[in-house]
Amino acid sequence: MSALNPTHDPKRRSWVETANAREAAFPVQNLPYGVFRRKSGPEAARAGTAIGDQILDLAGARRAGLIDGRAADACSEPTLNRLMALAPADWTRLRQQISDCLATDGERADDCRRRAAELLVPIADATLELPAEIGDFTDFFTSIYHATNTGTMMRPDSPLMPNFKYVPTAYHSRASSVVVSGAPVRRPNGQAIDPGAAAPRFGPSRLLDYECELGFFIGAGNRLGEPIPVARATEHIFGFCLLNDWSARDIQGWEGQPLGPFLGKSFSTTISPWVVTTEALAPFRGPAFVRAAGDPAPLAHLASADDAARGGLDIVMEVWLQTARMRQEGAAAVRLSQSNANDCYWTVAQMVAHHTSNGCNLRPGDLCGSGTVSGKDKGSYGCMLEMTWRGTQPVTLPNGEQRNFLEDGDELALRAHCARAGAVSIGFGECRGLVEPAR
Ligand code: CA
Repeated sequence: MSALNPTHDPKRRSWVETANAREAAFPVQNLPYGVFRRKSGPEAARAGTAIGDQILDLAGARRAGLIDGRAADACSEPTLNRLMALAPADWTRLRQQISDCLATDGERADDCRRRAAELLVPIADATLELPAEIGDFTDFFTSIYHATNTGTMMRPDSPLMPNFKYVPTAYHSRASSVVVSGAPVRRPNGQAIDPGAAAPRFGPSRLLDYECELGFFIGAGNRLGEPIPVARATEHIFGFCLLNDWSARDIQGWEGQPLGPFLGKSFSTTISPWVVTTEALAPFRGPAFVRAAGDPAPLAHLASADDAARGGLDIVMEVWLQTARMRQEGAAAVRLSQSNANDCYWTVAQMVAHHTSNGCNLRPGDLCGSGTVSGKDKGSYGCMLEMTWRGTQPVTLPNGEQRNFLEDGDELALRAHCARAGAVSIGFGECRGLVEPAR
């Protein structure tokens, strides 16, 4: 598990002044990776690091000799897959070099600063692309509060399935329809059955929802047939993003038995463009979710003392909504909920260990989702299904509008940050999508 090193030093500042603002998402301690190109003119997509309101062009930094090694070589590619496929030691080396370029006291700072005009691109002038070519996308179901709430709606007598405390449950979702923040999301058409109806209808979903999730990208994969032990799983996680698993609850409800989610989920999943590395999150690790007295201990293949002590991630996650009317009225987005990645019953290391425990191979750039991150209280419910209790308790917005589920023109944004005494706060940026009417 990555340890603290000089790149985390809270005293480090950047010569890119916007990175030093108190509320900056991308200070020099963060250094997330993304794939970008300038909006103006045709040019190749390549890797960059967010610093304040700027992007450091890593392909340019490599050409200028400011960074080197095989991780730096991978930064000229139009996806991060090759970088992700390397070892944690390569990632650490590149991060140290980038920190040395961008920190005021960094060894490479003078050279980098001299070339700032060619190497820095304002985030506002860039198009951010999907960070990786995603081969597979697996979505877990790890918040016990989300599982209990949604279970209560279906099975009031036994909300939690008997496997929940033993198995980090998941389903295989669709990689092809993962889109990057800012891409519109079209309301899907599908089959659903209205209460009391004898037969289903086909048409636009009437119960469109979001799910606030933590996403993570697999780094080096495993060979088919060779499980990743839980104690080594963190080495296989390159980094994290925000993930909105858009869900059409009416389609999902009708199609879901017996094989689980399909078209109610596969029409779109939005992720944030910046990948916050496992290493950047080191200061925000802590104990994993504390199981209630009487809960079973994880089976041996999912148990690790180090993971129990440091596998928890203190990431504050927020959901923001701006309706079409709010936009017209010039009203800012309103926060619907706030939860924490630590509300997940299973750690990401346990998810990876479980995923590969049957020998299934993960590959660099594979995407996993935590499942809806809901906390204990209503203000921390990570989807509208829970917040409005399946549409029976609508949410009233500051302008008087009400929502049972999402309407056309609604823009949903996920945001997240980490804050802890003795560390510089880091952010994830945004995971945003505007709902367009059905075709
Ligand atoms: Ca989900």
